[in-house]
Amino acid sequence: MALPSSMPGAACAQRVGDRMRFLWVRNQAGEEAAGAYIRADGWIDWRVVAAMQAVFRDLRQNAAGPLPVLLLDVLWLIQTGWRFEQPIVLHSGYRTPLTNASLEGAAFNSRHLEGQAADISLRGVTVEAVAEAATAFSRIYDFMGVGVYPGFVHVDIGPRRAWQRGAPRRIG
Ligand SMILES: [Zn+2]
Repeated sequence: MALPSSMPGAACAQRVGDRMRFLWVRNQAGEEAAGAYIRADGWIDWRVVAAMQAVFRDLRQNAAGPLPVLLLDVLWLIQTGWRFEQPIVLHSGYRTPLTNASLEGAAFNSRHLEGQAADISLRGVTVEAVAEAATAFSRIYDFMGVGVYPGFVHVDIGPRRAWQRGAPRRIG
């Protein structure tokens, strides 16, 4: 399957009964992956997941890690709010232990090490708006960590937590 380098919102229009889940991401090297990781028939398209996995890799070590489909679901939910008109900008996806240890303020047991977290932003959208969307889904589904940082929002598929700039707080 050829993945287009850019995908207008109309390209992912769904028909009734479709279970298609489309995602468009761009990493800090400017590499993009766009496609339906869940096809209209409900099956996972592993070629699309593999393309995403490459974009989510640790760029410093050029190492790909695990990429749970559940994390793609979280990002897909967030991207639905902006009609897929632009890629989710990935600030950090999978991290090797070496890269994680070199990052100031990164938790030693960061979920990035398991490929279970993504630091994201959307061009022209405030981090507060992205965090609000993520927090809404976190409430609905009763899981996900959501951390707000200057310039990006951390989301992960761990238990339900929320924090701002590294200071944990519980959400009511
Ligand atoms: Zn993070």
